[in-house]
Amino acid sequence: MLYQSTRGKSPAVSSTRAVLNGIAPDGGLYMPELNAAQVDYKRLLPMTAMQMAEEIFRALLPGFEDISGIVRRAYTGKFETDELTPLVPVGDRFVLELFRGPTSAFKDVALSALPQFISQARKQEGLSEKVVILTATSGDTGKAALEGFHDVAGTQIIVFYPDGGVSAVQRAQMVTQEGANVRVCAVRGNFDDAQTGVKKIFANADRKLLSEMGVTLSSANSINIGRLVPQVVYYYKAYADLCRMGRIQPGKKADFTVPTGNFGDILAGYFAKCLGLPVGKLICASNANDVLTDFLHTGRYDRRRPFYKTISPSMDILVSSNLERLLYLLSGCDADFVAEKMAELEQNGFYQVPQEMVARLHEEFSAETADDDLTTETIGKVWREHRYLCDTHTAVAWYASEKCGGAAPNVVLSTASPYKFPAAVCRALGASPDSDEFAVMEQLRELTGVPIPKNLAGLSARKELHRSVVDKEKMMDYVLDAIREGKE
Ligand SMILES: *Cc1c(COP(=O)(O)O)cnc(C)c1O
Repeated sequence: MLYQSTRGKSPAVSSTRAVLNGIAPDGGLYMPELNAAQVDYKRLLPMTAMQMAEEIFRALLPGFEDISGIVRRAYTGKFETDELTPLVPVGDRFVLELFRGPTSAFKDVALSALPQFISQARKQEGLSEKVVILTATSGDTGKAALEGFHDVAGTQIIVFYPDGGVSAVQRAQMVTQEGANVRVCAVRGNFDDAQTGVKKIFANADRKLLSEMGVTLSSANSINIGRLVPQVVYYYKAYADLCRMGRIQPGKKADFTVPTGNFGDILAGYFAKCLGLPVGKLICASNANDVLTDFLHTGRYDRRRPFYKTISPSMDILVSSNLERLLYLLSGCDADFVAEKMAELEQNGFYQVPQEMVARLHEEFSAETADDDLTTETIGKVWREHRYLCDTHTAVAWYASEKCGGAAPNVVLSTASPYKFPAAVCRALGASPDSDEFAVMEQLRELTGVPIPKNLAGLSARKELHRSVVDKEKMMDYVLDAIREGKE
């Protein structure tokens, strides 16, 4: 099976190449041929999460050797439980906890596997150069990437975060990161400055010089197919758990509600459906940045709207990159159609899909928005009624599942530990949070009795290892220094 670009102007490539390239040269995103992939979900039902991961990686990333080694290195001992992503009944719904990984964020599921894919692809493609991952982060992705890449052979990772622009907990998570191949650096400026700086390095870096230094640049961006595939696994795992609990007859459909930003998580659910898993509705939950709710209702994607900073910051986004892959699938793999719509979005700030496609969207998806007030209300309500403590992103999804859910069992995807957003959660429970974030964690624990995840609990006592702060103009110099030091 070859990987095609959604925009059709670049050659099809092997799965190992697709992972190394990240984005296709024509600006499109790589897509597997889902029709050609075979996954018999019934055979997967009795398996463990890691066995399921092996089956799904083999089906969607054919050509990768040593899949069982990849899965073992990615996940063994790194999550709070061997189940990786437990399913917890809450009232008449089911919460799929995706935050039991090393940084208490759902991005751990994918970012634990991606470095292993890159390392293996590098070997198979005979790439002698070291792959240097550059990432700008507004908080969560940086730490999850650091955890995934540290000490992975053939890779080095450099994370830039805005100085003063991430929470105290997020900063502590990053600057205490251990590993011989990791660097973390603050940038004087905001997140956009850091991100623009990284983009400039990609655009302007002297490839020849880098090659002479024995390295090639790459990113851990969420459009890499190596980040999407691991997310397909937990839909199977959740479905198998529903069967094990006797809450669904194998073959009957389950609905999934997904707190959505870049559309990667929910698209993985659609992949699972295309592969034959009995998925009913996929409910797309948004915060006040409701561009996806509007699109799924009307077929018109319009990013010309105000940007809101919300209490569910990982979903504050106006351009959802992975939606491009859905357009590709729903248009019957029509790359010209996708290229046209993406050009319209870039030039005009909006596009409209044809009526037949709107009908398909309505068949497969529902969508709902919860603003900050509704999010806060929902956290309080779920706690009072079920004694289940959820984070702000999960609350957005819970609200949407109540609005859009039907008779089928409803799985609400939970993407972060409540302890990652302790102040907002504290307020939702009617308490006024302390100004020190570490104190708020303790406050929340006293209030609820819910244990603080280990990786967050010991954080304030850990040693700071990364203290560099640079001006945004100096980011390239920092990278070159880090590469030189990394060679020793
Ligand atoms: C990244 C993230 C999301 C959004 O996931 P997408 O795949 O980008 O749609 C939701 N919640 C949390 C906590 C996240 O970190």
